[in-house]
Amino acid sequence: MRVDLSACRYESVRTTFEKMRGWKVVERHRNRKRGGKDCPVEVERGGGLRIDYDLYWTDRSLTRTRFMRLLPHQMANHFPEMHELCCKSFLASNLSAMRKLHPDQYDFFPDSWILPDDYKDFSRECRRQGGGQGKGDLFIVKPERGCQGKGIFLTRTAGHESIKQSLWSLGKILVAQRYVNNTLLIDGYKFDLRLYALVTCCDPLRVYVYREGLARFCTEPFDPVAFVGNENRLPEGWAYTHLTNSSLNKGNEKFRHSPDDADPGVGSKRRISGVLEMLRGQGIDVEKLWERLEDLVVKAIISAQPLLAHHHRLHQPKDRFGDRCFEILGADVLLDSDMKPWLLELNHSPSYHCEGVVDSGIKRPLLQEAMRIIGPSIAQRAAARAHVANQESLEPAAGEGGACVGEASTEKLLAKMRSSVAHGIGVQSADRNATMQELAD
Ligand code: ADP
Repeated sequence: MRVDLSACRYESVRTTFEKMRGWKVVERHRNRKRGGKDCPVEVERGGGLRIDYDLYWTDRSLTRTRFMRLLPHQMANHFPEMHELCCKSFLASNLSAMRKLHPDQYDFFPDSWILPDDYKDFSRECRRQGGGQGKGDLFIVKPERGCQGKGIFLTRTAGHESIKQSLWSLGKILVAQRYVNNTLLIDGYKFDLRLYALVTCCDPLRVYVYREGLARFCTEPFDPVAFVGNENRLPEGWAYTHLTNSSLNKGNEKFRHSPDDADPGVGSKRRISGVLEMLRGQGIDVEKLWERLEDLVVKAIISAQPLLAHHHRLHQPKDRFGDRCFEILGADVLLDSDMKPWLLELNHSPSYHCEGVVDSGIKRPLLQEAMRIIGPSIAQRAAARAHVANQESLEPAAGEGGACVGEASTEKLLAKMRSSVAHGIGVQSADRNATMQELAD
C-alpha cells in the first residue's frame, strides 16, 4: 500500500509508515528531487498526472474538491467539512444546540459565546457576574480558528479592547468561554489531557478512543486570583500559568522534558496513564474517570455526526466500498477539582512532532494502532483497484444521498452509545500499544 505524504510535515509520520510492513511512502516533491524515478504516476481520467497512492495523508483539512477527486481505491486521513467539530465556533454552536436538547448529557463544555453574534448575551453575563468591578467570573477568549494558544486572552468584562475590535472587524470571530477556575492541580500546576480518538466511519458512526495520551503541564504555578483589575493588560508570563499548550510553554526556561516516559511525576509532558495511576494512588476512581472521558469525546463527535454524514454522502464519488475517510482527532480536556472533565476543543490535525521520549512513546504507537485498524479497508480497496478503476465510478454522485440525517438518528446514536458505554462493549487488546477502544458503532 502506498501513502502519499507530500502534504505531511511530520518526520515521525514518515518514519512510522516507512517502518510499517506493507507500506511504501510516496512523495511528490521529494521524488521529483530524486529525479522522479521511484515515483510511479498514473493518468487520471480527464487528464493530469498524479502519484499513485492508496492513502492520501495531509496535515491540513480535506477540501471537497480533493475528496471528490479521490479514485475509487484511494482513501484520505480526514473527513470533508471537519470544521464542524474542529473549528471552535462550530463546535461551540453544535454542542450548545445539543445541550438545549439534552441538558444532562451535554454538560461537559464550558458556557461559550460566539462573538460578535452573541455579544449582547455575553455582555449581560459579564454584568450579571459583577464584571467591570474586577469581581466577576473569569472568561477566556479565543480566536475561532486559532491554535497553540495564539491570540488567547482572559477577561472579566465584555468591554475588553480586543473584543470591541472584533465587533468592528469583518470575519474576526472570537469564542468567549467561561474559565474553568477550579482546575485540578498537580503539585500546584495546571495541566490538561490530550486524548486521541479515531473515527473510521461517520455513518454509522464508529469511534475508537486511544487508551493513552498526553498530560501537558503549565510551567508556572497556578494562581486563580491573578486577574483582578485591568485585564486589558495581562501580567507578563500569565500564559505559562493559565495555558497548558506545550508549544507555548516551551518558550519558558522552566519547561522540562521527561527523562523517562514511565515516570508520572516529572516533566512538562507526561503519559496520561502515569498521571491516572498517580490519581488512583490518591483514591480517585480512575476507571470511572476514563469512562467519563470516553463518554465526552464520543458525545462531542455525535453532536456533528448528521452534518459529517451529510457532507460525506454529498461529495462522495459513487463508491461500492462505503467510507473512504478516517480521522484521528485530538481532544483537549481539563479536569476540575471535582474530577469533572471539561472538553476545551477538538483538533483535526493533532501534532505528531516527537520531541522527547513521551511524545515518541505515544504518537508512533498511536499511528501504528490507527493503521492496524484502518489498514485492512485500505488493503481491500487496493486489491480491488484493478477491478474498479475502469468502472464509471469516477463521476461524483452529485446530490446522491444528500439528505441530512435528522434528530431521530442522533437520538438513536445517543441511546446506543449510552448502552454501549454502560456495558463496556468494545474491542480492547491486551497489548499496551494496541489500545484503541471501539465505542460507537
Ligand atoms: P488552542 O487551540 O489555541 O490551543 P484551546 O481552546 O486549546 O486553544 O485553549 C488553549 C489552552 O487554554 C488550553 O490548553 C487550556 O490550558 C486553556 N483553556 C482553554 N479554555 C479554557 C477554559 N474554558 N478554562 C480554563 N482554561 C482553558
